[in-house]
Amino acid sequence: MNCEVIAVGTELLLGQIVDTNSSWIGGQLALAGIDSHYQTKVGDNWSRIEEAVRLGLERSDAVIMCGGLGPTQDDITREVIASVVESDLVLDEGIADRIREMFKTRGREMPENNLRQAMVPEGARTMAQQPGTAPGLVVPVETANGDQKVIYAVPGVPYEMKEMVLGTVLPDLQARSGITSVIESRVLRTWGQSESGLAEILSQRISDLEVVGNPTLAFLASGVEGIKVRITAKAATSTEVDRILQEEELFLRELLGDLIFAVNEDNMESTVLTLLAERGLSLGVVETTTAGYLAHRLATARSGTEAFSGGVAARGAGILSYLLKGDPGAWQPDEAAMQLARVARGILVSDVGIATTSIEDPARATESHPFGTAWLAVSMEGFETVEQVSLPGDLERIRQFSVISLLNLLRLHLERSRS
Ligand code: ATP
Ligand code: MG
Repeated sequence: MNCEVIAVGTELLLGQIVDTNSSWIGGQLALAGIDSHYQTKVGDNWSRIEEAVRLGLERSDAVIMCGGLGPTQDDITREVIASVVESDLVLDEGIADRIREMFKTRGREMPENNLRQAMVPEGARTMAQQPGTAPGLVVPVETANGDQKVIYAVPGVPYEMKEMVLGTVLPDLQARSGITSVIESRVLRTWGQSESGLAEILSQRISDLEVVGNPTLAFLASGVEGIKVRITAKAATSTEVDRILQEEELFLRELLGDLIFAVNEDNMESTVLTLLAERGLSLGVVETTTAGYLAHRLATARSGTEAFSGGVAARGAGILSYLLKGDPGAWQPDEAAMQLARVARGILVSDVGIATTSIEDPARATESHPFGTAWLAVSMEGFETVEQVSLPGDLERIRQFSVISLLNLLRLHLERSRS
């Protein structure tokens, strides 16, 4: 079974929006074990959309179309599909009622145009998920030589598209292809090794798994978010898939140790804050060159934010002299960072203080402290440290890297001192 993707919309061709839908669908098809060999982008033009659909049906078993299901004149996906499968569009009363109801609950008058969205090619079925006004369509197609194929049409709006692809398209494709297995992934997020370093540590495991074929491992370099190691497993039931993922995670943890800082959606800040919250510790930050990035990441973390007391983004000479009790220029940069971490505990009434400073002004760079040198400091009861690092890239990357490196420094201490 193979399935291709056609993204409809002139904006996609003009570069006004990036076609993230196709990439996302591609990833989901791969995970579901469905081959996908083509992705097409086509403008809102009848004959070119039609050409793309016909070609798709010739070379693939299924076609997913996204976009062009809206109520306006340039949204013609529905009409083109009806013409390709030689069906009439008929008004689906159930869908029409649902759309009227949506407008009514928002207290708005429904424009007549919206009823176009309730027009469904005869023989097609609508998808149960309907987060927006446009229904998704499942349109069976019998080709000239009797092959059973299918066109799916979903809206371009990403969250509507995702709900329908997950809820209807993937299960329908799997049912058609006779796939009964479950495929799931788990992502281990690492910090502190290069991609080639990780590949070296895991080389034996990777070759062993290549022989077995299940689970599989993949690396995803994610810049300032570290390198992700994705485990993908396949089995008859979801319980069995979970067991394989769990076993592989434990195995990889033996090899990677505390390079792993989080799993799946968790990230560095949620890990650090959770470790602090578990011990009832609070965290205050002083940052000089990172422009509030550190405080922002901590304040918006998906868990553990109760452990974050707050932050000071100190830029001017006045506030820096106040915090350092004297001329900031008189301090060595490492000692200044250390002192700011101590000050963070005091002024932010916190058990743990962290601070970062860096050479962000090329004019201040010296041979021993070139542009990109940063100092990361942690101060808490029974533990103080300051680390000097050389960070790559432009100012934006230096800021991002110093924030994540500082959080990682605190994480390693908290994890290693865990009894
Ligand atoms: P609606 O029914 O809400 O009008 P539609 O099916 O007509 O949706 P479009 O009008 O093509 O969809 O797109 C609506 C919005 O969805 C676009 O403005 C864009 O923000 C987003 N979108 C559309 N196609 C894509 C795509 N391929 N990748 C990412 N975003 C997209
Ligand atoms: Mg539209």
